[in-house]
Amino acid sequence: MKKHNFSAGPCILPEIVLQKASEAVINFNNDDLSLIEISHRSKPFVDVMENARALTLELLGLENKGYKVLFLQGGASTQFLMTAYNLLIKKAAYLNTGTWSDKAIKEARIFGELEEVASSKDKNFTYIPKEYEIPKDADYFHCTSNNTIFGTQLKSFPKLDIPLVCDMSSDIFSRQLDFSTFDLIYAGAQKNMGPAGTTVVIIKENILGKVSRTIPSMLNYKIHLGKDSMFNTPSVFPVYVSMLTLEWLKDLGGISFIEKVNQKKAALLYHEIDRNPLFNGIVNKEDRSNMNATFSLIDNSLKDRFDNLWKEARINGLNGHRSVGGYRASMYNALPLYSVQALVDTMQELERKA
Ligand SMILES: *Cc1c(COP(=O)(O)O)cnc(C)c1O
Repeated sequence: MKKHNFSAGPCILPEIVLQKASEAVINFNNDDLSLIEISHRSKPFVDVMENARALTLELLGLENKGYKVLFLQGGASTQFLMTAYNLLIKKAAYLNTGTWSDKAIKEARIFGELEEVASSKDKNFTYIPKEYEIPKDADYFHCTSNNTIFGTQLKSFPKLDIPLVCDMSSDIFSRQLDFSTFDLIYAGAQKNMGPAGTTVVIIKENILGKVSRTIPSMLNYKIHLGKDSMFNTPSVFPVYVSMLTLEWLKDLGGISFIEKVNQKKAALLYHEIDRNPLFNGIVNKEDRSNMNATFSLIDNSLKDRFDNLWKEARINGLNGHRSVGGYRASMYNALPLYSVQALVDTMQELERKA
């Protein structure tokens, strides 16, 4: 039996996806060849890439709205610099809500003036700043929709006259948003979509081509768009597994369906964190993430007992990030409700025994 996998990333994928992916590694499409030993320019793989791109737009409700999809390499971390390389003319505005935003800001500073419109660093990123002004003369505004490490999530996004750029690595495809308010969305696959090794980028094409600097080909969105994500060899296996996950999500009922499941899972766990006298939530209640719940023991002398309990219950990946401590339960799309129940049961067992 599989363990309850609360790992923050790389993380849980649907069983059926793992099964299909492993079959394709041995024999893809019953063609007696492996997915990872055929040309990326062969029709079977080009179909995979096209399908992955089409599913992305379909699930986000962005078909026929001027958006294009890329599957690139280098992780979300490469997007920190690639967004600035391609979009920053003079000045960009950033919201700093955690480690990943902080890193995006550091990279963007290489390319121009940077205005940090607000930051929650003063309280170790345990809240989302709400009152801030975005300068109208900025080339774009960048934010992080879900802060994987701290467990906060933006519940609303500004409507702007300048491009809105968002790192959605850890909550893309998990909740309904009006995705058409965004001009560029990027997400590393390994948090909610597939294995590490590919990053999905969704771009409104009309925001490109405004900077005058020379952009190296591999970092140039236009070059990748012109080659349909095939400028160089794409990471065929991660793209294929991402496609399978998107198919799985579509078959389930898409984002509107999974959002309800995700809300149920998060409600179950946060209710227990709030009810159980042994635990505390780490972040501001109204800013809590439905993907990553961070919490801690009030009495740390119970740590060994609790750690033994959840390990005995076959729970994996519950330790908090080293910069936060405590615990972090990552409840991505593929994590079943019964896994959250298993965690809640161990929290209640600790209460009975403590
Ligand atoms: C994990 C993560 C990243 C970094 O992703 P890599 O693919 O490892 O570069 C960036 N942003 C967010 C929000 C993340 O959760």
